[in-house]
Amino acid sequence: MAAPPHALRGEGLVDPLGLDETAPRFAWQIPAVPRGVSQEAFELQVTATDFDSGMAWESGKISSPQTIDVAYAGRRLRPRTRYQWRVRVWGKGGRESAWSAPAWFETGLLGERWRAQWIGRRRGIESDAPPAVWLRREFSLPAAPASARIYLTARGIFDLWINGQRVGADRLAPGWTDYRHRLDYHVHEVTTLLRAGNNAIGVVLGDGWWSGYLSEPQFQLRYGVDPSLLAQLIVRDAEGRETCVASDGDWQAARGPILANALYHGETYDARRELPGWSEPGARRRGWKAVDLFAPPAIELRAKHCPPIRSMEERKPCAVTAPQPGVFIFDLGENIVGWARLRVTAATGTEVRLRFGEMLAADGSLYTENLRSARATDRYVCRGGGAETWEPRFTFHGFRYVEVTGLPARPEADTITGIILHSALAEAASFECSDPLLNQLQRCIVRGQKGNFLDLPTDCPQRDERLGWSGDAQIFAPTACYNLASGPLFRSWMRAMRDGQRADGAFPDLAPHLLLEHGNAGWGDAGVIVPWTVWRFTGDTRILAENYSAMARSIAFQRKTSRALIRPDTLFGDWLAPDAAHPQHTPTPKDLIGTAYFAHTTRQLGEIAAALGKPRDAARYAALFAKIRAAFQREFVTATGRVLGDTQTSYLLALGFDLLPAAQRPAAIDRLVELLRTRDWHLTTGFLGTPLLCPVLTACGRSDVAYRLLKQETYPSWLYPVLQGATTMWERWNSWTIEKGFGDVGMNSFNHYAYGAVGEWLYSTVAGIAPAAPGFARLRIAPQPGGGLTWARAEVHTPLGPVRSHWTLRGRRFELRVTIPPQAEAEVALPPEGRPRTVGSGDHLFHCTLPKS
Ligand code: BGC
Repeated sequence: MAAPPHALRGEGLVDPLGLDETAPRFAWQIPAVPRGVSQEAFELQVTATDFDSGMAWESGKISSPQTIDVAYAGRRLRPRTRYQWRVRVWGKGGRESAWSAPAWFETGLLGERWRAQWIGRRRGIESDAPPAVWLRREFSLPAAPASARIYLTARGIFDLWINGQRVGADRLAPGWTDYRHRLDYHVHEVTTLLRAGNNAIGVVLGDGWWSGYLSEPQFQLRYGVDPSLLAQLIVRDAEGRETCVASDGDWQAARGPILANALYHGETYDARRELPGWSEPGARRRGWKAVDLFAPPAIELRAKHCPPIRSMEERKPCAVTAPQPGVFIFDLGENIVGWARLRVTAATGTEVRLRFGEMLAADGSLYTENLRSARATDRYVCRGGGAETWEPRFTFHGFRYVEVTGLPARPEADTITGIILHSALAEAASFECSDPLLNQLQRCIVRGQKGNFLDLPTDCPQRDERLGWSGDAQIFAPTACYNLASGPLFRSWMRAMRDGQRADGAFPDLAPHLLLEHGNAGWGDAGVIVPWTVWRFTGDTRILAENYSAMARSIAFQRKTSRALIRPDTLFGDWLAPDAAHPQHTPTPKDLIGTAYFAHTTRQLGEIAAALGKPRDAARYAALFAKIRAAFQREFVTATGRVLGDTQTSYLLALGFDLLPAAQRPAAIDRLVELLRTRDWHLTTGFLGTPLLCPVLTACGRSDVAYRLLKQETYPSWLYPVLQGATTMWERWNSWTIEKGFGDVGMNSFNHYAYGAVGEWLYSTVAGIAPAAPGFARLRIAPQPGGGLTWARAEVHTPLGPVRSHWTLRGRRFELRVTIPPQAEAEVALPPEGRPRTVGSGDHLFHCTLPKS
């Protein structure tokens, strides 16, 4: 008997609690040992009771190699129900495996009516950092529960407590969706927190993205004025009888120790105002008033699917300085996102102030000018009487340095601890090579991704912005999908893209949509590019199906608003290209950029249509792509293959999006290389050109030039910031330079992942692992040594299992070890341009001798 399948996932997650899918999809992996095992058929069972009785779905034996994206097709799923499932497979020659160990998923409310009311405390606008609201309710249970779940969400941020204990590890819940259209609710199992007799629930409500200000002072946008809560606790006894304790008029509200809370500005906590025992039964009643009820909003409530934000890691300071008496600066050694835990012993009423910054000024003081109006300041007022430990809950900061003032004595080793927050997405890959600078670049990319993946992909985590800019997201999406299992985050963010889509079909430039425009080239296009990218990496067709009509409308919009298929100029251009007079006035013509993206997304939509079984649409989009391509050539390409603008980005778009006739490609490649050479092998590209540089050069047989750029150490280049000590990617190539110091403070983030898009090339070309078919069902192993590297290795956790590539170069002898997971097939191409050979699952060793250079 073959070994049973393992790594079972429901809707992409291990044992998800709270799924609002009527037909969740299942995935599993085939064990790698013994070698060469493959699945020819499978059978799946799903039950709400046990596998011997009451099956919700028995798939029967299905002849198929499919191990991902298998949709539930059984009896209608019941809400709030835990289902177990298992799978067995048949390999070659009909060999049957044992059943897998069971996995489970639990449904959410599945559209069931909420029994709760929206509650809070009307407060009105008090300031840009108002006090938090404390809510509580006592109740009694006749017996300890057999099972209990709480379903809750907030307009604002909630912090949930039951009987004096904080529930779960989620932070900044429920995260940020387009609140005008939808909210995620969280589900927690709380069975063991409850007991027979008196119990209490307590919730602290912060303002968060709902009623805190979003965006710069001139916009000061927000959704509402007061935060509010919707919560229902459902307790089941041993006989299956249900009791519901829901948010309603019986709850009470108070003000507590959080005197101020704001995402950008920070939190103020006065420990003298704590409400002892507030989330336990029998707390003092003084100060508690009846809650206010709020009208229910007409929006969709869905169980959260994207893994929630959590505290993922901690950092101890590596140095403490005192630039002035009484001012201590803690250096965490790397630019992180989250907050600091403070430990202090001081007299009652002592106020300790924490300010956060990414850099230090030349005199060693904290540099905060690039935060614009974000005050990034936390305050803690001591209770007194011994050591106190505190961390905030309704703010976050992007920082490497914490400035602490107000300490009664010199700090100690544990005065400050950095707490790193991000969406709890699984690590999906690792990359390493013989060059320490490139390894540091890779760390900067991953850290930048984590710090900007707090429930949605944001541009930056520190200044008064932190928005879901779509252009940044689309260029970084492939790298993001390599580093972390980013599918659920992008899928959830695509809902915000759809929510913000304009009636004429234009996708927004940022999601959740708040301000500015729609449909700018390279930004709105994320609405097609991101689902396509996630599908390439995960094989997830649901993200395609969910977005198909929105994508089709965006292409129709582009077609309608073009002149003979040439797009008009739009706002951002090749944003932040170093030669630009202004971030958006860049040398590459904007209509050229727009038309290139129109062609590219139309072609992608054709591939998506084919994957969704819509051959007529696929043919229609393929034909439209051909027409846009022809229009591009007519408008922007000369007979000799010059591309208008004559910039690096013009050629990169034309070559990268396949917009040139084959005969003109060699001239365009030569010109691109010439433009790089005349800059002494420096890039002049902005947000849209940069991600294409290395991949296009490799596709055109010039990995040597790509390595030259990657290894460039002088400005502008990827390694320039690394050599200046960067620990995350910077927004600008010159966010800080030796000659000029800090770049334009109006827009100068030291944690912007956009230029980290080069990470894709580290995996796909340096280590050489890339998907050749959706979900890595076929993959390409084609490492290209260069840049003086003597070895590189990567491991990528594909839906089928781990893929490894590890090469070494000794003299001219090149050796490559690869691991291919079961069910996958790899085309392996040895350098420099070896003919691909196909191999199946297992470990393989290849070698060759490189030609003399
Ligand atoms: C953001 C960018 C974003 C841009 C749009 C900036 O403020 O930080 O990353 O894409 O605006 O032009």
